[in-house]
Amino acid sequence: SIRVRFAPSPTGNLHVGGARTALFNYLFARSKGGKFVLRIEDTDLERSTKESEDALLRDLSWLGLDWDEGPGVGGNYGPYRQSERNALYKQHADKLLQTSHVYRCFCSNEELEKMKEIAKLNQLPPVYTGKWASATEREVQEELAKGTPYTYRFRVPKAGSLKIDDLIRGEVTWNLDTLGDFVIMRSNGQPVYNFCVTVDDATMAISHVIRAEEHLPNTLRQALIYKALEFPMPKFAHVSLILAPDRSKLSKRHGATSVGQFKEMGLLPEGMVNYLALLGWGDGTENEFFTLDQLVDKFTIERVNKSGAIFDSTKLRWMNGQHLRSLPSEKLTELIGERWKSTGMVAESKGSFVEEAVQLLKDGIDLITDADNALSSLLSYPLYSTLSSPEGKPVLEDKLSEVAASLLSAYDSGEFTNALEEGSSGWQKWVKNFGKALKRKGKSLFMPLRVLLTGKLHGPDMGAGLLLVYKAGICGEVAPASH
Ligand code: GLU
Repeated sequence: SIRVRFAPSPTGNLHVGGARTALFNYLFARSKGGKFVLRIEDTDLERSTKESEDALLRDLSWLGLDWDEGPGVGGNYGPYRQSERNALYKQHADKLLQTSHVYRCFCSNEELEKMKEIAKLNQLPPVYTGKWASATEREVQEELAKGTPYTYRFRVPKAGSLKIDDLIRGEVTWNLDTLGDFVIMRSNGQPVYNFCVTVDDATMAISHVIRAEEHLPNTLRQALIYKALEFPMPKFAHVSLILAPDRSKLSKRHGATSVGQFKEMGLLPEGMVNYLALLGWGDGTENEFFTLDQLVDKFTIERVNKSGAIFDSTKLRWMNGQHLRSLPSEKLTELIGERWKSTGMVAESKGSFVEEAVQLLKDGIDLITDADNALSSLLSYPLYSTLSSPEGKPVLEDKLSEVAASLLSAYDSGEFTNALEEGSSGWQKWVKNFGKALKRKGKSLFMPLRVLLTGKLHGPDMGAGLLLVYKAGICGEVAPASH
Protein backbone atom coordinates (compact mmCIF):
# COMPACT_ATOMS: atom_id res chain seq x y z
CA SER A 1 0.00 0.00 0.00
CA ILE A 2 1.07 3.57 -0.65
CA ARG A 3 2.40 5.41 2.39
CA VAL A 4 4.29 8.69 2.20
CA ARG A 5 5.52 11.06 4.84
CA PHE A 6 6.41 14.68 5.40
CA ALA A 7 9.17 14.85 7.97
CA PRO A 8 9.91 18.42 9.00
CA SER A 9 12.40 19.42 11.68
CA PRO A 10 10.71 21.79 14.13
CA THR A 11 13.58 24.25 14.13
CA GLY A 12 11.94 27.17 12.38
CA ASN A 13 9.02 28.19 10.23
CA LEU A 14 7.47 26.22 7.39
CA HIS A 15 9.08 27.64 4.26
CA VAL A 16 7.85 27.44 0.69
CA GLY A 17 10.26 24.57 -0.03
CA GLY A 18 8.95 22.48 2.86
CA ALA A 19 5.37 23.39 2.06
CA ARG A 20 5.82 22.23 -1.53
CA THR A 21 7.35 18.94 -0.35
CA ALA A 22 4.39 18.46 1.98
CA LEU A 23 1.99 19.28 -0.85
CA PHE A 24 3.56 16.82 -3.30
CA ASN A 25 3.43 14.09 -0.65
CA TYR A 26 -0.16 14.95 0.11
CA LEU A 27 -1.16 14.95 -3.56
CA PHE A 28 0.65 11.69 -4.20
CA ALA A 29 -1.09 9.99 -1.26
CA ARG A 30 -4.53 11.37 -2.08
CA SER A 31 -4.29 10.62 -5.77
CA LYS A 32 -3.32 7.01 -5.08
CA GLY A 33 -5.63 6.32 -2.16
CA GLY A 34 -2.59 6.08 0.11
CA LYS A 35 -1.73 7.47 3.53
CA PHE A 36 -0.04 10.78 4.27
CA VAL A 37 2.03 10.59 7.46
CA LEU A 38 3.45 13.53 9.39
CA ARG A 39 6.61 12.82 11.35
CA ILE A 40 8.39 15.39 13.51
CA GLU A 41 12.17 15.09 13.21
CA ASP A 42 13.22 16.58 16.51
CA THR A 43 16.45 14.69 17.14
CA ASP A 44 18.27 17.99 17.30
CA LEU A 45 16.96 18.72 20.78
CA GLU A 46 18.79 22.00 21.09
CA ARG A 47 17.27 23.54 17.98
CA SER A 48 13.84 21.93 18.13
CA THR A 49 11.06 23.83 19.84
CA LYS A 50 7.46 23.20 20.71
CA GLU A 51 6.46 26.59 19.24
CA SER A 52 8.00 25.61 15.97
CA GLU A 53 6.16 22.29 15.92
CA ASP A 54 2.86 24.02 16.73
CA ALA A 55 3.45 26.55 13.97
CA LEU A 56 4.24 23.76 11.47
CA LEU A 57 1.03 21.94 12.28
CA ARG A 58 -0.93 25.19 12.10
CA ASP A 59 0.53 26.17 8.72
CA LEU A 60 -0.07 22.72 7.22
CA SER A 61 -3.67 22.78 8.43
CA TRP A 62 -4.13 26.28 7.06
CA LEU A 63 -2.95 25.03 3.65
CA GLY A 64 -5.52 22.25 3.92
CA LEU A 65 -2.92 19.46 3.90
CA ASP A 66 -4.43 17.23 6.54
CA TRP A 67 -2.41 14.19 7.56
CA ASP A 68 -3.76 10.69 8.21
CA GLU A 69 -1.24 9.78 10.89
CA GLY A 70 0.96 11.91 13.09
CA PRO A 71 0.83 14.39 15.95
CA GLY A 72 -2.69 15.18 17.03
CA VAL A 73 -4.12 12.33 14.95
CA GLY A 74 -2.30 9.23 16.14
CA GLY A 75 -1.99 6.07 14.05
CA ASN A 76 -0.66 2.53 14.17
CA TYR A 77 2.97 3.39 13.49
CA GLY A 78 3.63 5.88 16.28
CA PRO A 79 5.08 7.56 18.11
CA TYR A 80 5.42 10.21 15.42
CA ARG A 81 8.14 12.29 17.05
CA GLN A 82 11.70 11.08 16.75
CA SER A 83 12.46 12.15 20.30
CA GLU A 84 9.98 9.48 21.45
CA ARG A 85 11.44 6.68 19.34
CA ASN A 86 14.83 6.16 20.96
CA ALA A 87 14.09 2.58 22.04
CA LEU A 88 13.38 1.65 18.43
CA TYR A 89 16.66 3.13 17.20
CA LYS A 90 18.61 1.28 19.90
CA GLN A 91 16.86 -1.97 19.07
CA HIS A 92 17.69 -1.70 15.37
CA ALA A 93 21.25 -0.60 16.03
CA ASP A 94 21.74 -3.68 18.20
CA LYS A 95 20.27 -5.87 15.50
CA LEU A 96 22.86 -4.53 13.05
CA LEU A 97 25.56 -5.17 15.63
CA GLN A 98 24.46 -8.79 15.88
CA THR A 99 24.48 -9.27 12.12
CA SER A 100 27.89 -7.59 12.02
CA HIS A 101 26.73 -4.77 9.72
CA VAL A 102 27.79 -2.55 12.55
CA TYR A 103 30.79 -2.73 14.86
CA ARG A 104 31.81 -0.97 18.03
CA CYS A 105 34.42 1.66 17.41
CA PHE A 106 36.51 2.67 20.41
CA CYS A 107 38.62 5.25 18.58
CA SER A 108 39.12 8.49 20.47
CA ASN A 109 38.48 11.84 18.81
CA GLU A 110 42.24 12.41 18.61
CA GLU A 111 42.76 9.16 16.74
CA LEU A 112 39.96 10.04 14.32
CA GLU A 113 41.41 13.50 13.75
CA LYS A 114 44.78 11.99 13.00
CA MET A 115 43.26 9.60 10.42
CA LYS A 116 41.62 12.54 8.70
CA GLU A 117 44.87 14.49 8.58
CA ILE A 118 46.79 11.59 7.12
CA ALA A 119 44.11 11.02 4.50
CA LYS A 120 44.24 14.69 3.60
CA LEU A 121 48.02 14.66 3.28
CA ASN A 122 47.81 11.70 0.93
CA GLN A 123 44.90 13.28 -0.93
CA LEU A 124 42.64 10.38 -0.05
CA PRO A 125 38.95 10.54 0.89
CA PRO A 126 38.44 10.81 4.68
CA VAL A 127 37.35 7.22 5.18
CA TYR A 128 37.71 5.33 8.46
CA THR A 129 40.90 3.28 8.53
CA GLY A 130 40.95 2.36 12.20
CA LYS A 131 41.42 -1.11 13.55
CA TRP A 132 37.92 -1.67 14.97
CA ALA A 133 36.44 -2.78 11.68
CA SER A 134 38.43 -5.98 12.05
CA ALA A 135 39.09 -6.21 15.79
CA THR A 136 38.81 -9.56 17.52
CA GLU A 137 36.10 -10.33 20.04
CA ARG A 138 38.76 -10.33 22.74
CA GLU A 139 40.00 -6.83 21.92
CA VAL A 140 36.43 -5.61 22.03
CA GLN A 141 35.73 -7.27 25.39
CA GLU A 142 38.86 -5.72 26.85
CA GLU A 143 37.74 -2.19 25.95
CA LEU A 144 34.24 -2.88 27.22
CA ALA A 145 35.68 -4.05 30.52
CA LYS A 146 37.70 -0.84 30.78
CA GLY A 147 34.56 1.18 30.10
CA THR A 148 36.02 2.91 27.03
CA PRO A 149 33.30 4.92 25.25
CA TYR A 150 32.39 3.65 21.78
CA THR A 151 30.25 4.50 18.79
CA TYR A 152 28.32 2.15 16.51
CA ARG A 153 29.97 2.29 13.13
CA PHE A 154 28.33 0.99 9.97
CA ARG A 155 30.41 -1.36 7.82
CA VAL A 156 30.27 -0.08 4.23
CA PRO A 157 31.10 -2.56 1.46
CA LYS A 158 34.61 -1.69 0.31
CA ALA A 159 33.94 -1.88 -3.41
CA GLY A 160 31.12 -1.77 -5.90
CA SER A 161 28.37 0.77 -6.29
CA LEU A 162 24.83 1.44 -5.28
CA LYS A 163 22.09 2.54 -7.62
CA ILE A 164 18.61 3.88 -7.08
CA ASP A 165 15.91 4.65 -9.61
CA ASP A 166 14.73 8.05 -8.56
CA LEU A 167 11.19 8.75 -9.76
CA ILE A 168 12.17 12.29 -10.69
CA ARG A 169 15.90 12.23 -11.37
CA GLY A 170 16.14 8.81 -12.96
CA GLU A 171 19.10 6.54 -12.25
CA VAL A 172 21.47 7.75 -9.54
CA THR A 173 24.65 5.75 -8.86
CA TRP A 174 27.24 6.10 -6.12
CA ASN A 175 30.63 4.43 -5.86
CA LEU A 176 31.07 2.95 -2.42
CA ASP A 177 34.86 3.14 -2.19
CA THR A 178 34.87 6.79 -1.12
CA LEU A 179 32.19 6.56 1.53
CA GLY A 180 33.93 4.91 4.47
CA ASP A 181 32.36 3.36 7.55
CA PHE A 182 30.08 5.90 9.22
CA VAL A 183 28.72 6.32 12.72
CA ILE A 184 25.06 5.50 13.32
CA MET A 185 25.06 5.92 17.10
CA ARG A 186 27.25 8.24 19.12
CA SER A 187 29.04 7.24 22.30
CA ASN A 188 26.36 8.94 24.39
CA GLY A 189 23.73 6.67 22.83
CA GLN A 190 22.34 9.41 20.54
CA PRO A 191 21.39 7.89 17.19
CA VAL A 192 22.59 9.77 14.12
CA TYR A 193 20.14 11.51 11.81
CA ASN A 194 20.43 9.23 8.74
CA PHE A 195 19.94 6.18 10.90
CA CYS A 196 16.80 7.57 12.55
CA VAL A 197 15.26 8.49 9.20
CA THR A 198 15.87 4.99 7.85
CA VAL A 199 14.53 3.18 10.90
CA ASP A 200 11.51 5.49 10.88
CA ASP A 201 10.75 5.13 7.18
CA ALA A 202 11.20 1.36 7.39
CA THR A 203 9.17 0.79 10.55
CA MET A 204 6.47 3.21 9.40
CA ALA A 205 6.22 1.15 6.20
CA ILE A 206 6.84 4.19 4.01
CA SER A 207 6.56 3.16 0.36
CA HIS A 208 7.70 6.40 -1.31
CA VAL A 209 10.15 8.95 0.03
CA ILE A 210 9.37 12.27 -1.67
CA ARG A 211 11.67 15.01 -0.41
CA ALA A 212 13.95 17.87 -1.37
CA GLU A 213 16.93 17.33 -3.63
CA GLU A 214 19.28 18.46 -0.87
CA HIS A 215 18.67 15.11 0.83
CA LEU A 216 19.92 13.10 -2.14
CA PRO A 217 23.41 12.65 -0.64
CA ASN A 218 21.80 11.15 2.48
CA THR A 219 20.05 8.55 0.38
CA LEU A 220 23.23 6.55 -0.14
CA ARG A 221 23.73 5.95 3.59
CA GLN A 222 20.04 5.36 4.12
CA ALA A 223 19.84 2.82 1.30
CA LEU A 224 22.79 0.90 2.76
CA ILE A 225 21.06 0.79 6.15
CA TYR A 226 17.85 -0.40 4.51
CA LYS A 227 19.69 -3.28 2.91
CA ALA A 228 21.48 -4.22 6.09
CA LEU A 229 18.21 -4.26 8.04
CA GLU A 230 16.65 -6.31 5.22
CA PHE A 231 13.76 -3.94 4.85
CA PRO A 232 12.22 -3.49 1.41
CA MET A 233 13.64 -0.32 -0.13
CA PRO A 234 11.11 2.49 -0.67
CA LYS A 235 10.97 4.35 -3.97
CA PHE A 236 12.71 7.69 -3.87
CA ALA A 237 11.69 10.96 -5.52
CA HIS A 238 13.93 13.98 -5.01
CA VAL A 239 12.27 17.27 -5.85
CA SER A 240 14.49 20.03 -7.21
CA LEU A 241 15.29 23.25 -5.40
CA ILE A 242 13.20 26.38 -5.40
CA LEU A 243 15.25 29.24 -6.78
CA ALA A 244 15.02 33.02 -6.57
CA PRO A 245 14.52 34.94 -9.84
CA ASP A 246 18.32 35.39 -10.06
CA ARG A 247 18.62 31.56 -9.89
CA SER A 248 20.34 31.63 -6.52
CA LYS A 249 18.92 29.59 -3.67
CA LEU A 250 15.73 31.22 -2.40
CA SER A 251 16.36 32.85 0.96
CA LYS A 252 15.16 35.53 3.35
CA ARG A 253 16.88 38.29 1.44
CA HIS A 254 14.45 37.66 -1.45
CA GLY A 255 11.53 38.69 0.76
CA ALA A 256 8.84 36.56 2.33
CA THR A 257 9.61 32.83 2.21
CA SER A 258 7.57 31.30 5.01
CA VAL A 259 3.96 30.22 4.82
CA GLY A 260 3.18 32.25 7.95
CA GLN A 261 4.50 35.42 6.30
CA PHE A 262 2.42 34.85 3.19
CA LYS A 263 -0.67 34.29 5.30
CA GLU A 264 0.05 37.54 7.09
CA MET A 265 0.45 39.30 3.73
CA GLY A 266 -3.07 38.33 2.76
CA LEU A 267 -2.56 35.22 0.63
CA LEU A 268 -5.34 32.67 0.58
CA PRO A 269 -4.47 29.01 1.20
CA GLU A 270 -6.09 28.24 -2.18
CA GLY A 271 -3.76 30.61 -4.01
CA MET A 272 -0.72 29.47 -2.09
CA VAL A 273 -1.37 25.78 -2.71
CA ASN A 274 -2.02 26.34 -6.40
CA TYR A 275 1.17 28.32 -6.83
CA LEU A 276 3.28 25.83 -4.86
CA ALA A 277 2.03 23.01 -7.08
CA LEU A 278 3.24 24.86 -10.16
CA LEU A 279 6.78 25.04 -8.76
CA GLY A 280 8.03 22.06 -10.68
CA TRP A 281 4.76 20.53 -11.79
CA GLY A 282 2.18 21.16 -14.49
CA ASP A 283 -0.56 19.02 -15.97
CA GLY A 284 0.90 19.32 -19.45
CA THR A 285 -1.68 21.85 -20.68
CA GLU A 286 -1.78 25.64 -20.60
CA ASN A 287 -4.06 25.52 -17.60
CA GLU A 288 -2.56 26.82 -14.40
CA PHE A 289 -5.60 27.31 -12.22
CA PHE A 290 -6.25 24.39 -9.88
CA THR A 291 -8.08 23.87 -6.63
CA LEU A 292 -6.66 21.36 -4.18
CA ASP A 293 -9.22 18.77 -5.31
CA GLN A 294 -8.34 19.35 -8.95
CA LEU A 295 -4.67 18.94 -8.09
CA VAL A 296 -5.39 15.62 -6.41
CA ASP A 297 -7.14 14.64 -9.60
CA LYS A 298 -4.34 15.65 -11.96
CA PHE A 299 -1.15 15.11 -9.98
CA THR A 300 1.37 12.50 -11.08
CA ILE A 301 4.95 12.29 -9.85
CA GLU A 302 6.10 11.60 -13.42
CA ARG A 303 5.20 15.14 -14.36
CA VAL A 304 7.41 16.67 -11.67
CA ASN A 305 10.25 18.50 -13.36
CA LYS A 306 13.82 17.79 -12.39
CA SER A 307 15.19 21.28 -13.02
CA GLY A 308 14.98 24.04 -10.41
CA ALA A 309 11.76 26.04 -10.17
CA ILE A 310 11.84 29.82 -9.95
CA PHE A 311 9.80 31.46 -7.25
CA ASP A 312 8.02 34.48 -8.69
CA SER A 313 6.13 36.46 -6.06
CA THR A 314 4.35 38.57 -8.69
CA LYS A 315 2.88 35.44 -10.16
CA LEU A 316 1.94 34.14 -6.72
CA ARG A 317 0.06 37.38 -6.15
CA TRP A 318 -1.69 37.17 -9.51
CA MET A 319 -2.61 33.55 -8.91
CA ASN A 320 -4.07 34.50 -5.56
CA GLY A 321 -6.23 37.12 -7.27
CA GLN A 322 -7.65 34.41 -9.52
CA HIS A 323 -8.60 32.33 -6.49
CA LEU A 324 -9.89 35.31 -4.57
CA ARG A 325 -12.32 36.18 -7.36
CA SER A 326 -13.49 32.62 -7.70
CA LEU A 327 -14.41 32.26 -4.05
CA PRO A 328 -18.15 32.12 -3.40
CA SER A 329 -19.22 35.71 -2.93
CA GLU A 330 -20.47 35.19 0.67
CA LYS A 331 -17.11 33.71 1.63
CA LEU A 332 -15.15 36.59 0.10
CA THR A 333 -17.47 39.14 1.71
CA GLU A 334 -17.02 37.48 5.07
CA LEU A 335 -13.22 37.40 4.77
CA ILE A 336 -12.94 41.02 3.70
CA GLY A 337 -15.68 42.24 6.02
CA GLU A 338 -13.93 40.71 9.00
CA ARG A 339 -10.67 42.20 7.90
CA TRP A 340 -12.17 45.70 7.56
CA LYS A 341 -13.81 45.35 10.93
CA SER A 342 -10.56 44.29 12.57
CA THR A 343 -8.64 47.15 11.01
CA GLY A 344 -11.35 49.59 12.09
CA MET A 345 -12.38 50.55 8.56
CA VAL A 346 -16.02 49.62 9.03
CA ALA A 347 -18.15 49.49 12.12
CA GLU A 348 -19.88 46.25 11.16
CA SER A 349 -18.31 43.29 9.34
CA LYS A 350 -21.63 42.44 7.67
CA GLY A 351 -24.36 44.34 5.90
CA SER A 352 -25.16 45.87 2.57
CA PHE A 353 -22.31 48.37 2.59
CA VAL A 354 -19.69 45.65 2.99
CA GLU A 355 -21.42 43.43 0.44
CA GLU A 356 -21.62 46.16 -2.18
CA ALA A 357 -18.13 47.45 -1.48
CA VAL A 358 -16.64 43.97 -1.91
CA GLN A 359 -18.47 43.48 -5.20
CA LEU A 360 -17.29 46.87 -6.41
CA LEU A 361 -13.67 46.49 -5.36
CA LYS A 362 -12.85 42.81 -5.80
CA ASP A 363 -11.61 43.11 -9.38
CA GLY A 364 -8.84 45.45 -8.26
CA ILE A 365 -7.42 43.28 -5.49
CA ASP A 366 -5.21 40.20 -5.42
CA LEU A 367 -4.53 39.83 -1.72
CA ILE A 368 -7.05 40.03 1.08
CA THR A 369 -4.95 42.86 2.53
CA ASP A 370 -5.30 44.86 -0.71
CA ALA A 371 -8.93 45.36 0.26
CA ASP A 372 -7.85 47.92 2.87
CA ASN A 373 -6.25 50.23 0.37
CA ALA A 374 -9.05 49.69 -2.09
CA LEU A 375 -11.63 50.85 0.45
CA SER A 376 -9.66 53.77 1.79
CA SER A 377 -8.95 54.84 -1.77
CA LEU A 378 -12.68 54.74 -2.54
CA LEU A 379 -13.29 57.02 0.42
CA SER A 380 -10.43 59.39 -0.16
CA TYR A 381 -10.44 62.49 -2.33
CA PRO A 382 -6.88 63.36 -3.43
CA LEU A 383 -7.91 66.03 -5.94
CA TYR A 384 -4.85 68.19 -5.66
CA SER A 385 -2.28 65.43 -6.13
CA THR A 386 -4.33 63.98 -8.96
CA LEU A 387 -4.45 67.23 -10.88
CA SER A 388 -0.80 67.97 -10.33
CA SER A 389 0.30 64.51 -11.55
CA PRO A 390 1.56 64.21 -15.15
CA GLU A 391 -1.52 62.16 -15.97
CA GLY A 392 -3.78 64.76 -14.41
CA LYS A 393 -2.46 67.75 -16.37
CA PRO A 394 -4.20 66.90 -19.70
CA VAL A 395 -7.50 66.50 -17.89
CA LEU A 396 -7.02 69.88 -16.29
CA GLU A 397 -6.21 71.49 -19.64
CA ASP A 398 -9.24 69.83 -21.22
CA LYS A 399 -11.65 72.54 -19.98
CA LEU A 400 -12.12 70.85 -16.64
CA SER A 401 -13.60 74.12 -15.47
CA GLU A 402 -16.46 73.91 -17.98
CA VAL A 403 -17.51 70.56 -16.52
CA ALA A 404 -16.87 71.81 -13.01
CA ALA A 405 -19.12 74.84 -13.47
CA SER A 406 -22.01 72.72 -14.73
CA LEU A 407 -21.48 70.17 -12.00
CA LEU A 408 -21.50 72.88 -9.39
CA SER A 409 -24.82 74.25 -10.59
CA ALA A 410 -26.30 70.73 -10.72
CA TYR A 411 -25.13 70.32 -7.17
CA ASP A 412 -26.50 73.68 -6.04
CA SER A 413 -29.90 73.07 -7.58
CA GLY A 414 -30.16 69.75 -5.75
CA GLU A 415 -30.42 67.92 -9.10
CA PHE A 416 -27.26 65.95 -8.49
CA THR A 417 -28.23 64.84 -4.99
CA ASN A 418 -31.69 63.87 -6.19
CA ALA A 419 -30.15 61.69 -8.86
CA LEU A 420 -28.01 59.88 -6.34
CA GLU A 421 -31.01 59.51 -4.09
CA GLU A 422 -32.73 57.57 -6.87
CA GLY A 423 -29.89 55.09 -7.06
CA SER A 424 -28.35 53.53 -10.10
CA SER A 425 -31.02 54.45 -12.64
CA GLY A 426 -31.17 58.03 -11.36
CA TRP A 427 -27.42 58.39 -11.71
CA GLN A 428 -27.41 56.98 -15.23
CA LYS A 429 -30.17 59.25 -16.38
CA TRP A 430 -28.49 62.27 -14.87
CA VAL A 431 -25.08 61.57 -16.34
CA LYS A 432 -26.56 61.14 -19.80
CA ASN A 433 -28.40 64.46 -19.71
CA PHE A 434 -25.41 66.17 -18.18
CA GLY A 435 -23.24 64.98 -21.07
CA LYS A 436 -25.83 66.01 -23.63
CA ALA A 437 -26.00 69.54 -22.31
CA LEU A 438 -22.22 69.87 -22.50
CA LYS A 439 -21.97 68.00 -25.81
CA ARG A 440 -19.57 65.55 -24.24
CA LYS A 441 -19.57 61.81 -24.03
CA GLY A 442 -17.19 58.93 -23.41
CA LYS A 443 -13.79 59.79 -22.08
CA SER A 444 -14.18 63.55 -22.48
CA LEU A 445 -17.20 63.40 -20.21
CA PHE A 446 -16.17 60.73 -17.74
CA MET A 447 -12.57 61.72 -17.14
CA PRO A 448 -13.26 65.22 -15.86
CA LEU A 449 -16.34 64.00 -13.99
CA ARG A 450 -14.36 61.27 -12.30
CA VAL A 451 -11.63 63.68 -11.29
CA LEU A 452 -14.14 66.17 -9.92
CA LEU A 453 -16.27 63.65 -8.10
CA THR A 454 -13.69 61.20 -6.81
CA GLY A 455 -10.47 63.17 -6.92
CA LYS A 456 -8.88 60.36 -8.90
CA LEU A 457 -8.15 59.44 -12.51
CA HIS A 458 -8.87 55.73 -12.14
CA GLY A 459 -10.97 53.50 -9.99
CA PRO A 460 -13.83 51.06 -9.92
CA ASP A 461 -17.15 51.84 -11.60
CA MET A 462 -17.71 55.52 -10.85
CA GLY A 463 -21.50 55.48 -10.45
CA ALA A 464 -21.47 52.44 -8.19
CA GLY A 465 -18.66 53.88 -6.10
CA LEU A 466 -20.36 57.25 -5.69
CA LEU A 467 -23.67 55.68 -4.76
CA LEU A 468 -21.99 53.46 -2.21
CA VAL A 469 -20.12 56.31 -0.58
CA TYR A 470 -23.17 58.53 -0.73
CA LYS A 471 -25.35 55.90 0.92
CA ALA A 472 -22.70 55.13 3.51
CA GLY A 473 -22.52 58.84 4.25
CA ILE A 474 -26.21 58.88 5.07
CA CYS A 475 -26.26 55.66 7.06
CA GLY A 476 -22.97 56.27 8.82
CA GLU A 477 -21.86 52.71 8.28
CA VAL A 478 -18.26 53.57 7.63
CA ALA A 479 -16.02 54.14 10.58
CA PRO A 480 -13.98 57.30 10.03
CA ALA A 481 -11.01 56.10 8.04
CA SER A 482 -7.75 57.96 8.43
CA HIS A 483 -5.96 58.72 5.18
N1 GLU B 1 13.87 16.48 8.53
C1 GLU B 1 14.32 16.72 7.20
C2 GLU B 1 14.12 18.18 6.88
O1 GLU B 1 13.39 18.87 7.55
C3 GLU B 1 13.59 15.88 6.17
C4 GLU B 1 14.19 14.54 6.03
C5 GLU B 1 13.57 13.66 4.98
O2 GLU B 1 12.56 14.03 4.36
O3 GLU B 1 14.09 12.58 4.81
O4 GLU B 1 14.71 18.67 5.95
